[in-house]
Amino acid sequence: MQRRPFLATLGATAAALTTGTRAQEAPGRKLGWALVGLGSLSTHQIAPALAKTKHCRLAAIVTGTPEKAEKWKAQYGIPDSHVYNYETFDRIAENPDVDVIYVVLPNSMHEEFVIRGAKAGKHVFCEKPMANSADECRRMIAAMKSAGKQLGVGYRCQFEPHHRECMRLAREKVFGDLKFIEAGFGFQIGDPAQWRLRKKLAGGGALMDVGIYALQACRYLTGEEPVEIVAQEVKTDPVKFAEVDETISWSMKFPSGVMASVMTTYAFNGVNSFTAVCQNGKFGMDPAYSYDGLKGWTSKPEVKIEFPAVDHFQTEMDAFAAAILADVAFVPSGEEGLWDLLAIEAIYRSIAEGKAVTVGNV
Ligand code: NDP
Repeated sequence: MQRRPFLATLGATAAALTTGTRAQEAPGRKLGWALVGLGSLSTHQIAPALAKTKHCRLAAIVTGTPEKAEKWKAQYGIPDSHVYNYETFDRIAENPDVDVIYVVLPNSMHEEFVIRGAKAGKHVFCEKPMANSADECRRMIAAMKSAGKQLGVGYRCQFEPHHRECMRLAREKVFGDLKFIEAGFGFQIGDPAQWRLRKKLAGGGALMDVGIYALQACRYLTGEEPVEIVAQEVKTDPVKFAEVDETISWSMKFPSGVMASVMTTYAFNGVNSFTAVCQNGKFGMDPAYSYDGLKGWTSKPEVKIEFPAVDHFQTEMDAFAAAILADVAFVPSGEEGLWDLLAIEAIYRSIAEGKAVTVGNV
């Protein structure tokens, strides 16, 4: 396993953000976005964020629920010609008003709609987790490549200033070499009937849904891919969590010798942080992954991690649009999603086999 070109990765993301400024100054048009799946995230986060963006606008909707279509048409002034359902979706290819398709569906549907979006000749932004397996990610990446369009994954924290400052502190070794990371994200999940608890739709439980944020933090702090993982699972409610994981803790070894100890859960609240322990001090965030109220801290009073709050969704959508407008590669792309799925598959494999396992490669 090779060290990921972390500097290049951060550089490309920064380029997208910088070119965002450039595109903002240019008279460039706003890109039209089609939202696929009008659930909680689309309704409460993405649509309001779209209204605040510099380079994007809500152009079309794709929904399987006619009542939602009526409500959104009225609320956002969307014409009938820009409303699709999952059967008529492919006609979006003929709609020049749509530049970007944003897939906000249950995880198992991401692959199908990303590939159909590619075939429609549109750029696609896909919610996390990118898919339910590394193979699905590979097919999605291939489809987007052959369409010659950009694929972005909704890793909103990568555009959030506290997280970006933590990446810088680690990369520039402000506290010396990074040695150890402790990270975790979990919450007490409610409604036992929801798709997040159905393996076929969700692919897995807490790990796929929120553990992925803590995994991401370890990957972007180290700038490396884990080489070996050992994981354990606990199920205190085998009925509710009959199909998916409830609580998992795992440790990861990175090529430079950094160790990470990570956990995720659907059983309780209170875990939402990371700590990066370095040779000469430490820093971290708590809370780390919520939409707002994020707090950074360091062991040196003179080094502060303090930034005004941003709308994560506005920022990431503008960065994706800016990359498209400036014709530069967007990061985090599908490869980033694939790396996460490789680590997630290793975690599940370690639990199943009861031993440490190596992580697959792209
Ligand atoms: P919801 O359950 O609230 O919405 C999903 C929507 O998908 C539904 O409302 C429905 O929309 C559509 N859908 C189509 N088929 C199905 C099906 N078989 N079962 C359920 N819904 C279906 O989920 P979220 O909005 O919370 O999550 C959607 C995606 O966004 C997930 O991949 C999730 O991981 C990700 N997410 C990311 C977050 C982040 O911070 N980046 C936060 C929350 C979620 P319709 O009625 O319009 O057809």
